[in-house]
Amino acid sequence: HPASSSNFLRQIIERDLAAGRHQGRHWGGSPGDADHHARGVPDPARIRTRFPPEPNGYLHIGHAKSIWINFSLAQEYGGVCHLRYDDTNPEKEEQAYVDAIADAVQWLGWSWHAHGTEHRYFASDYFETMARAAEYLIETGHAYVDEQTPEQMRANRGTLTEPGIDSPWRDRPVQDNLRRWREMLAGQHPDGAMVLRAKIDMASPNINLRDPTIYRIKHATHHNTGDRWCVYPMYTFAHPIEDALEQITHSICTLEFEDQRPFYDWLLERLVPLLRAPHFARARQRIEDLRAQGVEAAKTFALRCHNAAAKLGRNTDAERRMAALFARWEHDRDAVLRDLDGFFELLLAELHHFTPLLAQVLTAYEPEPFDLPHQYEFARLNLTYVVTSKRKLKALVDEGIVAGWDDPRLPTIAGLRRRGYTPEAIRLFCERTGVSKAGGWIDYGNLEVALRDDLEGQAPRAMAVLDPVELELTNWAEVFGSATHREACRAPLHPHHPGWGERQFTLGPRLWIEREDFAEQPPKGYFRLFPGNKVRLKYGYVVECTGCEKDAQGQVTKVLARVIPDTKSGTPGADAIKVKGTITWVGVHEAVAAQVRLYDRLFTDPQPDAGGKDFRAVLNPASLRTVRGYVEPTLANLPAESRWQFERHGYFCTDRLDHRPEQPVFNRIATLKDGWGG
Ligand code: ATP
Ligand code: MG
Ligand code: MG
Repeated sequence: HPASSSNFLRQIIERDLAAGRHQGRHWGGSPGDADHHARGVPDPARIRTRFPPEPNGYLHIGHAKSIWINFSLAQEYGGVCHLRYDDTNPEKEEQAYVDAIADAVQWLGWSWHAHGTEHRYFASDYFETMARAAEYLIETGHAYVDEQTPEQMRANRGTLTEPGIDSPWRDRPVQDNLRRWREMLAGQHPDGAMVLRAKIDMASPNINLRDPTIYRIKHATHHNTGDRWCVYPMYTFAHPIEDALEQITHSICTLEFEDQRPFYDWLLERLVPLLRAPHFARARQRIEDLRAQGVEAAKTFALRCHNAAAKLGRNTDAERRMAALFARWEHDRDAVLRDLDGFFELLLAELHHFTPLLAQVLTAYEPEPFDLPHQYEFARLNLTYVVTSKRKLKALVDEGIVAGWDDPRLPTIAGLRRRGYTPEAIRLFCERTGVSKAGGWIDYGNLEVALRDDLEGQAPRAMAVLDPVELELTNWAEVFGSATHREACRAPLHPHHPGWGERQFTLGPRLWIEREDFAEQPPKGYFRLFPGNKVRLKYGYVVECTGCEKDAQGQVTKVLARVIPDTKSGTPGADAIKVKGTITWVGVHEAVAAQVRLYDRLFTDPQPDAGGKDFRAVLNPASLRTVRGYVEPTLANLPAESRWQFERHGYFCTDRLDHRPEQPVFNRIATLKDGWGG
């Protein structure tokens, strides 16, 4: 990893590993499901990262960067990267996006399978835990239900220079908050009637700490949980919990979230007792084991539970139930020992209540190392000449400005793939552009350079004529004895891979050449066809131009030339006549007609959406030009997604969807040199 060997995230991970952090257990399976936590094996993946897209659109090149960072760091340190759908917002999310995201990650070459487990998660699977966490914050005095109107809330939030104003609902009693919260959960209030807010500090200089909303009412159907919920967590509340439940070690995000980090830490610190919940399942296993071991072991356990419980306050219902359980132990120890099974049944039943008290009891019984995840920020990727916002990409799709999410002009992973980009080129681009704290714009040309560097050594070569005009060799029958004679020509499939063999095609009296390769009045320095000039037909003969034919409008319809005998490439006399120009061609008799899609940048402005500009105003009208061209017979019957270099034109790829072996469709991925295409 030469380009990124010194990136700051790597340094952080190495520092953490050197300090002996992240040596806990991992419970495997789905973190939202307590049953899966029962195993509790030492964590084989000490480093856990995650890529957390919201399934509200297709992934784009910016996401490819985030994917590269998270998956490559995990891979490098023998860890795991989770693919986690951050699907906490019911209205914008769809199954089609869920599938497209998985496709994109896999196509880029990454896997969420590691150490025998599939690490693909849905934030919505944790809604139950999140709601419990919200309730826990209420119980512990860290959250309240606010019934101000959205306008009042906004007005009372204050500004960068003015502190906010406390809500009149801020200090209501825990029991009132709990009752209102349960009404919210039960669907008794309309959208917007009230929200649940964290109780932090309305005067904090960080506006994100001024009692942020953590839950709102939304009567909406969710793609995963259906109508189970009518309250949904805010992203800033949900995300830290997701990270903690999955035991993420390094939660890497873009710089916009830097101001959210204090809330991320505030929340997790307060939720530690709940987050130890996975220990419950292990404890349940432990209780089952003790039960099998008999009375003595159980006595010890029960005693320690009792001692731990004695130190704790008893506030919630579940805690009262636990207290009653221990009271029974206290007052009639012999009865408990006589009915150990009954005692264990009760204990197991209480485990389901997920209480902080129980967590502390079990922690006292067997302390565990427990690391909270930490958030680290890097500068997002900004690429010129594209927009990388799902909302704006969706607008381009919905308004019909492009043909779909996989339009080859879009910087979506699906679009880049359809255009012909390779996963390797995209990864190379991510690696070369590095990871840093300082933002900036990366020129789109860098993506093309990475593509060329990847394809140069592996795309076979062929000739294609994209703006065809006919060239007739008028002395053909005279030189070769017959108008139907064909001269066999050969060329390497790749100049640096002789082992790949050669392509074969033939020269005849009628050829397709590029219209720009003939000029009746040659401009200065023009070395191609003009009357009286000689050029070489690449891999073939030297020809001398004699003139042209034109239609009534003066448009050239045919270029005329004479073939010069004994000048064929690769034969002894080939160099007898020196020429300054060589042109590409395809024989009319064997040319394969093809549709060729010449893509150019979608926008004429390098920063099409900067500063609130309307990107629709800077669309490039020539971003797609479809032409009918001719390609050499080597290219007949190709499968979809074949990548070739058309000599002098650039890199092309047969279209994933529209290409047919008998009706080829090529997309231009990139021209051969840097700069504007066209
Ligand atoms: P968008 O605005 O396009 O919807 P997003 O950040 O809201 O982007 P998510 O689906 O939430 O989209 O993003 C998933 C991950 O990808 C996040 O961790 C986010 O930081 C990262 N990401 C998104 N865009 C970029 C970018 N341009 N450069 C680097 N990382 C990005
Ligand atoms: Mg997002
Ligand atoms: Mg977004």
